[in-house]
Amino acid sequence: MLISTHCHSHYSFDCKTTIEDIIEACLNSNIRCLLITDHDVFSLSNEDIEKFANKGIRILEAIEFTTSESAHVIGVCDGIKKLEKPRYHYSAREISSALKDMGGWVILPHPTHKTGLLNGKVSNEDADYCLKLADFIEIESSKYGYFDVSGVLRKYENLKPVISDDAHHKNDIGLRMNYVNVTNLDSDTDEILRKMYTSSKFFYNKKKIYPRKIKNYIVSLWLYKKVLFPLKKMLRKG
Ligand SMILES: [Zn+2]
Ligand SMILES: [Zn+2]
Repeated sequence: MLISTHCHSHYSFDCKTTIEDIIEACLNSNIRCLLITDHDVFSLSNEDIEKFANKGIRILEAIEFTTSESAHVIGVCDGIKKLEKPRYHYSAREISSALKDMGGWVILPHPTHKTGLLNGKVSNEDADYCLKLADFIEIESSKYGYFDVSGVLRKYENLKPVISDDAHHKNDIGLRMNYVNVTNLDSDTDEILRKMYTSSKFFYNKKKIYPRKIKNYIVSLWLYKKVLFPLKKMLRKG
């Protein structure tokens, strides 16, 4: 089945996607298992989770924590709400070890972005500590593109690469997913994640990715022609 590992809902301050929109997008993309990774909260009600379950979609409870160093760390485990605190509450080291104490899983999202663990604000010792504890690291997301972590992956053999959407809009859901050989949706969280850890494959929805790439290309070309080029010309004249 396809797992989508990084998706925001309207419970995140920077996202308006409703539960119904997410369900529809998951069905369109064949996503059977979804990590809802809202910023610093896990607010899905049992009713919300049931809405997913009724459509054959398994929700894994997750939070994308914002650490005191402004780095994001995703934790996944049943009952994660217990760790809910306002943003900047935990350091990267504290939240990583709290998650492990709870038997949870740690994903390092957009690691080289300014809101990633390797943003330079997390001390080298703390980053090393988190990299050793974490289970997964994003190597690519639909939101930011590629993250150059080949050196990290060589050094920290515990880390398994995942790709994600980091979706903040319903149209962002289902571009980059992970395929895991699990058929039983009632498998427990650990079993699903253990399978993802030991044997998962990346799954790209090219039908969605390519039109988007073409659109971005046209927009950049238009920007260059209509804005940057005339501006350059104007500056040269002036
Ligand atoms: Zn993030
Ligand atoms: Zn995110």
